[in-house]
Amino acid sequence: MGENKRKKSTTQKFLELNPYCCFCGGEVQATTRDHYPPKALFYNKDRPDGLVFPACKECNNGSRHSDSIVSYLALASLTNKENNINSETLKRIKALEKNCPKTYYLLRKSNHGMIQKEKSLRKKGFNYKVLNIHNHIRQHILLFSKKMTCAAYYAQNNEILPTTACGTVYIQTIMDVINEQVLSINLGNIYTLIQGQNNKKNEFSFQIQSNRDEGIGVVRFVLQKQFIITIIFAKDLKAYQILSDNFDKAEQNFIFFQEIVEPDEKYIPSLEDKIVNIQYKYS
Ligand SMILES: [Zn+2]
Repeated sequence: MGENKRKKSTTQKFLELNPYCCFCGGEVQATTRDHYPPKALFYNKDRPDGLVFPACKECNNGSRHSDSIVSYLALASLTNKENNINSETLKRIKALEKNCPKTYYLLRKSNHGMIQKEKSLRKKGFNYKVLNIHNHIRQHILLFSKKMTCAAYYAQNNEILPTTACGTVYIQTIMDVINEQVLSINLGNIYTLIQGQNNKKNEFSFQIQSNRDEGIGVVRFVLQKQFIITIIFAKDLKAYQILSDNFDKAEQNFIFFQEIVEPDEKYIPSLEDKIVNIQYKYS
């Protein structure tokens, strides 16, 4: 009872200081504290406290599937050379099978292609694997990126990105760094989650540069030292157009920061275009 009361007052105090949901434009009352990125993203779900955000119920619950899909993609890099799947990855595959049947189906399909390709790459002496990301899965990554950008911007500026905000998401891996294909932007300080000795910098880190007056910014997240997501964003299309010319060479995943709505995870066995190939380095 005492514990419950204390918990309640922590949330109430937090919401008094942070009254509006920071994920859907800042006009909806926040009713929950959202830990973002979520536990699912960390090995053994061991997530230090910190990075807590005001969220409405819809936004808090609205990225459940996207969170577990991104977590699978990030942790899949821990699978070793011999294709032995570690228990942590296996847990996530089982969760996907249960909760995200469409994604599970698409990953299985592309996994088959991946293994074939891997064999031929290894024969040629390449030491990495390739994962095909279907359009459907890409949509989940975009939703995760959108929520993560709102969170990082709020953490830095204590200000909420408006619903007119927009941006481009760049999905890359450490292989792109090795191949020097990652946008080289100096983003300054690296932030992570730390509690005592528990430093998560190898599992999650982010950097953000933003200019509140101009309403523009760049944020980069690195997951499991492998999976790199960079988002170039602006408060509206006009501000974005000034930015975008510099970055037109990279692959374009344009998004608007409106509501948090996940792609439908119902089982529909259709084959969509494979848009992105990402490469993993063996750990
Ligand atoms: Zn919201």
